[in-house]
Amino acid sequence: MSSAVLAAIGDELLSGVRLEKNCNFMAYHLHNSGWEVKRIEVVPDTDKDIQDLLSHWIGHTELLILSGGLGPTHDDKTRYAIAKYLGCGLREDSLYDKILLRVKDDPERFARIERSRYTQAMIPENASAVYNPAGSALGIRFTREGTTVIALPGVPMEYEAMTRQELPEIFSPSNHCWASVIILGLPEMSIVEKIPEVINNPSLHVSILPAFPQVELIIRGKPELVAEAEDLTRSRFADVLPKGCHSLAEAVIHEARAKGVKIACAESCTGGMIGAALTDIAGSSDVFSGSAVTYSNNAKVNILGVREETLRLHGAVSPECAQEMAQGARRIYGADYAVAVTGIAGPDGGTEAKPVGTVWFGLAGSDGTVSFMKNLPGNRGEVRTRTVRFALAELWRKMR
Ligand code: ATP
Ligand code: MG
Repeated sequence: MSSAVLAAIGDELLSGVRLEKNCNFMAYHLHNSGWEVKRIEVVPDTDKDIQDLLSHWIGHTELLILSGGLGPTHDDKTRYAIAKYLGCGLREDSLYDKILLRVKDDPERFARIERSRYTQAMIPENASAVYNPAGSALGIRFTREGTTVIALPGVPMEYEAMTRQELPEIFSPSNHCWASVIILGLPEMSIVEKIPEVINNPSLHVSILPAFPQVELIIRGKPELVAEAEDLTRSRFADVLPKGCHSLAEAVIHEARAKGVKIACAESCTGGMIGAALTDIAGSSDVFSGSAVTYSNNAKVNILGVREETLRLHGAVSPECAQEMAQGARRIYGADYAVAVTGIAGPDGGTEAKPVGTVWFGLAGSDGTVSFMKNLPGNRGEVRTRTVRFALAELWRKMR
């Protein structure tokens, strides 16, 4: 197995102002292609830190991929650090003209990119340039002591586009050597106890990623062993997302399509997050009709037809309201199944009877409507994301 080290350069990543995305993207794809990613590092925007990084890893890994610091501003240090490490100067690379040619019909962009030529076109003399199909900063590539170093710009769209188009040799799909199995409704220990032969197999590496009500198992190892372990794991559980479904939303869309049914939602505390999760899946329009975001009582009444009496007697966070919301969504969208959520995400609004985290779910189908309640832990964001997962899990179960 070839090894790779990934590093993101940027003070904004270290201070938490931005979430690191590039190494995450690269690690995922390298992993799929059979690479062992042995370290991910985040490094400040300084010459010394970048040079230290190079000295530390060159000769100790096959691949070292850097992200960031290739722009035209004072805080972009990567090209200078690489040149110093290689003990050479910088030269202008002709690939920059290819970038200019691409934007020749946009005079404003052309002028802006031309102005950055004296930084962004500059490549260390002992390295080669990597074309950027999505931006203007060239990447840098060289090999030393058995380590290929590739430096790419930090803008995630550029990093990704360059990886996909300019570095296809990194990806070798035939080497697939991991499988994902997503199990619903069981705590991680109960899952582990049911598959001792997989967990205790020294030739397999199993990661367990709980995000209740789902637990995802990532099984890694030799392809034949992984395939066998995946089949065995799947056979031991009733509620397992189908092969190839990497999220609950994907499983819901897949199931609705298989059954030939339409689905819809009514959302209060999630404000459209369930609809967003479903529409994230390409092709969801075949089966997903829509989601009504009804945050106020008025909206629940006027859009979904929740009865005013229901709200007066039971409140918006109640089984009655959740059921009427689900029925309303099913009716207005002409759907076969609808799921509704109404709850208290916090941090305010909780009471003794209905503390923060109280969420009622309604599920309507041709055979009637049911409701259930969850007391979800966590802050506002966590309550909302957990609500989305429960709503999708129950919708999936209902369709099955
Ligand atoms: P350039 O892309 O111009 O060559 P750079 O690579 O360092 O330079 P910056 O100008 O530092 O990029 O950052 C551009 C944008 O990309 C910023 O919004 C920054 O937060 C974001 N960015 C940089 N690196 C990452 C990363 N590893 N993950 C997510 N976002 C990043
Ligand atoms: Mg940067």
